[in-house]
Order: sequence, then C-alpha cells, then structure tokens
Amino acid sequence: MLGGMTTRPPSVDHVLRSPPGAAAVARFGHTAAVAAIRAAVVRVRAGEIAAAAVAETALAALEAAAQPSLRPVLNLTGTVLHTNLGRALLAEPAISAAVGAMRGPATLEFDLATGGRGERDDHVRALLCELTGAEDAIAVNNNAAALVLALAALAAGRETIVSRGELIEIGGSFRLPAIMESAGTRLVEVGTTNRTHARDYEGAIGPATALVMKVHTSNYRIEGFTAEVAPRDLAALAHARGVPLLDDLGSGTLIDLTRHGLPRERTVGDAISDGADIVTFSGDKLLGGPQAGFIAGRRDLVARCAKHPLKRALRLDKIRLAALEATLKLYRNPDRLAETLPTLRLLARPVAEIQAMADGLAAPLAAWAGEGWAAEVIDCQSQIGSGALPVETIPSAGIALTPPAGTSGAAVEALAARLRGRVVPVIGTIRHGALRLDLRCLEDPSALLAQLT
Ligand SMILES: *Cc1c(COP(=O)(O)O)cnc(C)c1O
Repeated sequence: MLGGMTTRPPSVDHVLRSPPGAAAVARFGHTAAVAAIRAAVVRVRAGEIAAAAVAETALAALEAAAQPSLRPVLNLTGTVLHTNLGRALLAEPAISAAVGAMRGPATLEFDLATGGRGERDDHVRALLCELTGAEDAIAVNNNAAALVLALAALAAGRETIVSRGELIEIGGSFRLPAIMESAGTRLVEVGTTNRTHARDYEGAIGPATALVMKVHTSNYRIEGFTAEVAPRDLAALAHARGVPLLDDLGSGTLIDLTRHGLPRERTVGDAISDGADIVTFSGDKLLGGPQAGFIAGRRDLVARCAKHPLKRALRLDKIRLAALEATLKLYRNPDRLAETLPTLRLLARPVAEIQAMADGLAAPLAAWAGEGWAAEVIDCQSQIGSGALPVETIPSAGIALTPPAGTSGAAVEALAARLRGRVVPVIGTIRHGALRLDLRCLEDPSALLAQLT
C-alpha cells in the first residue's frame, strides 16, 4: 500500500516503481503515466482521494482516456434507423468488403482490363442503374451532398421551383432553403403549406427556371384539406416546358416494402418510371448500406453532376464504396434480402419473436435494476426512423422498468444513466415515468444479459 493511511502524497517516482505504476507505464507509456500520477497527486493534496489511492486512480484515469469515444451500443430505442446511433447496420458481405479495402491497395480508380485509369463510380454505377432503371448514377458522401451537387451542377445562378408544402427541415442543419442557397440556386416557392396545384407550378416556370423539384416530406405529413401534384403529372408538366424534374426521395428504398409486411414507400424505380430526370436518395437509410448519397437519372444530367468540381469534394472513399457495392449486390437476390440485409431483417422481425425475448429478459432486468423496481413486458411501436415513413409505426415488444413506489422521476433518469454506463452502453427511452427498452433491434439476448453482470 503506497503511503498507507497518511495524507502525504507519495512521490511520483515511488508510484512509478510500484507494480500498478509499472503496469501503467507498460500499457500507456512513461509520459502518459507520469501525467496521470501527477494529476492523482494533485487530488490527494486537494483532499479528494487518499494517498494510498494514487496508483489506482491514475490507472483508472488512463483506462478511461483509452476508451474509444465512438463506441458500439445496444439500440433499444425502438427507432431502427436511428440517426444519432449511426443509422443502418451493415450486412456481413459489406463489412468484409470494407475490411478488405482497408487492409490493402484496391482497384479504386484502376481498370484491370486495360491497366489504365478507372473511375470510382464504376464500382456501383451499373448496379444502381440495374436496380433503379436509371440511365446513369453516381455516389457521393450523403444525400445532403447529392442535393447540393445536383442543384449546383444543374441550377446554379438560376431558379428552382418547390412547393411550400415540401420545404423540409431534417435535423437542425438540413433545411431545404439553406441547402439551395449554398448551392447557388434561387428558390421559387409555389402553392401553400397544405395545397399546391399544377397551375401554381405552371405559373412559376419561366426563362430563369432550371429545375422543378419534388421533395419527400420525410419526417412529417400534412393531413386534412390537402392537394399536391402527383409525381407523374409534375414530370409531364415540367417536361412540357422543357424543364427537368428533380425528385429528392430521402430514404429511397429499392424494393417494395409491402412484400415484407411493411408500409408502402415509393421506390427509386417508381420515381424514375414516373418521369423524374434526377432522383437523389441516401445509402444508410432504408437501403441499408454505409453513409452515402446518390444522384440517379438522365445520362446527360448525371454527367454534368459528375464533372462539377464539387464532386471531388464530396466523393466516396474506397472503404464505403466497397461496402456499398457489396450491399447493392445483395439486392440481386431480393428473396433472401430479409435475411441478408440487417435493416430489413430488423424491420421485418415478427412481433411474437420479440415478445418471447421480452418474456425471458424481464426477470433478469428487474433483478439488475434493484429492490422495488418492476419490469413489465409491454407492447411497443417501433419507428423506422431517419425520416422514413414518419407516421407509420411497426408493432413491437419490450420491457418497461418502473421505479419503486414513492421515488421521483430522478430514479428513472438514474437507471437510464446506469444502463448507458455499461461496457456496451444500453440506450432506452423514458416515457410516462418508466424506462422503456424496445427489443426489436436486439437479435441476441445474451448481448443485453452480458451487460447486467
Ligand atoms: C434524410 C433526407 C435527406 C438527407 O439525407 P442524408 O443522407 O442524411 O444527408 C435529404 N432529403 C430527404 C427528403 C431526406 O429524408
């Protein structure tokens, strides 16, 4: 024991020579160990810790600092594509492809047939065209980037017409008017919040019009006395005046989700066949791949986007391109997609299976929470998340942890914090004075049980 029960701090040298001090040097290096011991000594002088605790305090501080900041968690929020928790989980073939691309050189911009220069978009171009019916397609950093690039390449210095019912904000930093301004196109708003008619668009199209734009109202729905122009009619109307239609689909699914018991969502193929000249959509929402954004559509327009200087600033790296190619290839076998693509697998999970898992986890959770806590199996409503199908929810099951009678709401907050403090943090939601854990995204119960020991 260093320093015994005295309050006089030990010397740094003394601690460094002790077994825990030597261990700290071996694991974290001399410089970091000395700094951590000095910081612990300061805390002894301040009366915050005992002199005997210097070595272990220093070691704990070094271990805490060595923890990664970006850590895996268990998402029990019930939101499958949770933006703050990293959206889609990658499929195994995508993970292997990404790891392969990370470990060594790859044919990122290299043509094996000719031995000459290749194009990075060629790794996904043909697949995207095959899966969407588009003539051409490119990939960039995310859908926000796809929009900025498409607007800058096709409408800078000119006007883009959008319905007032579609001027969306997706999270604080993505507001459509701001995106348009940064791309250098003038926003021309038409119609009203709840009703926009064909004549509104027709009246706004003029010599300065570069694009008519349709935006998926991803995270809200306007209901009641409403009117909007159907995508097919909007395309015809724009084409009659020689103006292309850009359709920002947001999530952009590639398959008919109703086949998997999920609510209907327009596919990228629908948008193309309805006449959109350019469609933009995300890689890490319903598509289930890495973060990416796509510009798909008419060959001449996609080529203008590909040649714009911003493309270079927004392009994808080899790791994500490898994961993306592998993810898109899974779509060639749509019958197996509900097994192979984690996003779809989680969304399509039968509620009975989730309920059975909840039944088995209630008792261990109640025991872990402590004296007086109740763990009840409850019905939940999972959300798809990331602005896909905002109103529709998917029936699910989970566990509500209710504090002992007479305790305040602070007890629930404290329990939530305790779960977040596990080696693999467990993230739930607090509602109606209880901590709710929706188990839709927990495929292996032992992953949760391991955090309760
Ligand atoms: C999510 C979304 C975006 C932004 O996509 P990111 O991939 O997050 O950049 C843009 N438009 C719509 C309609 C969306 O739903």
